[in-house]
Amino acid sequence: MSFLVIVVSLIVVWIASLCKILHSGSSYSKNTFLSEVSDGAPNRRNVLLVIAHPDDESMFFSPTINYLISRGHNVYLMCLSIGNADGMGNTRKDELYQACLVLKVQPQQVKILDHPDLQDGFGLVWDRGLLSKTIKEEVSTHHIDTVITFDNYGVSGHCNHCDVHYGIRKLLEDASERRIEAWELVSSSILRKYIGPVDIWLSMLLATKSDSRVAHCLLNEQPLKSFSAMAAHSSQWVWFRKLFVSFSSYTYVNTLRRID
Ligand SMILES: [Zn+2]
Repeated sequence: MSFLVIVVSLIVVWIASLCKILHSGSSYSKNTFLSEVSDGAPNRRNVLLVIAHPDDESMFFSPTINYLISRGHNVYLMCLSIGNADGMGNTRKDELYQACLVLKVQPQQVKILDHPDLQDGFGLVWDRGLLSKTIKEEVSTHHIDTVITFDNYGVSGHCNHCDVHYGIRKLLEDASERRIEAWELVSSSILRKYIGPVDIWLSMLLATKSDSRVAHCLLNEQPLKSFSAMAAHSSQWVWFRKLFVSFSSYTYVNTLRRID
C-alpha cells in the first residue's frame, strides 16, 4: 500500500512539474538572462554554443537553445568533433545538421570540426591551446559576444566535455577576449540528473538564492522539441538514450553559471 502511495505521489509530482514548465516557461525568475534592453529594443546577442560531440546540444543544452532562439538571439553552434569514436562520424555530422533544423539553429551557423587532434574518445586529451585558438577564430568571424559551454565536469564527466570547458577558460585568459561573456552549464548530482522535470523545483530555488549576474535557471518551454531534436540523431536514438532523454533533468531545465 505504501509503495503504491509513493508511486502515485511521484507521478503527481512529475505531472505537476511538467505543467509548471509548460505554463510558466522560461519566464521564471523574471528571467533576465541576456535580456538587456538598449534604446527601447531588446539587445540581441551573438551567442556561440560550444560542444564536443554531435547530440550534446540536444541531450544537454536544448532548454538553453530554445530560450535563446525564442528571445531572438543569434545562435551559433560549434561542435569540436564529428563523434567518430564508433566510425560513424560522417553520419553523426549529418544528424547534427538535422537536429539543428529542429532546434531552429540556422545550418550556416553550425560549424562541425574534424581535426586530427580533436577526435572523439575517452582518454584522448584535447590540447587547450589548440581549443582556444580554434574557438577564437569562430568568435572573431561571427563577432561573438557570448559563449556557452560545459562546466569543468561536463555533465557526464566525459573528458572531451571537460577539455572544451578548459579550452574556453584559456580563451578567456587572453586579454583581447576579456570582453566575451562566458557561461557554463552546471553539472548536477546523479540523483538530480535522473529525476526529470522534478528537478526544476530545486533548480529554481537555487537560482533564486543566487545573484542573477552569476546564475540563471532556464526552463525548457518546448520539451517535445528536445525529443524531436534528439530523435534526429537516428544512429544514437536507441532505447537507453530514449530513457535518458525522458528522465534526464537536462531535457527540462538548464542552470547556467557565469565563468569568471
Ligand atoms: Zn558529448
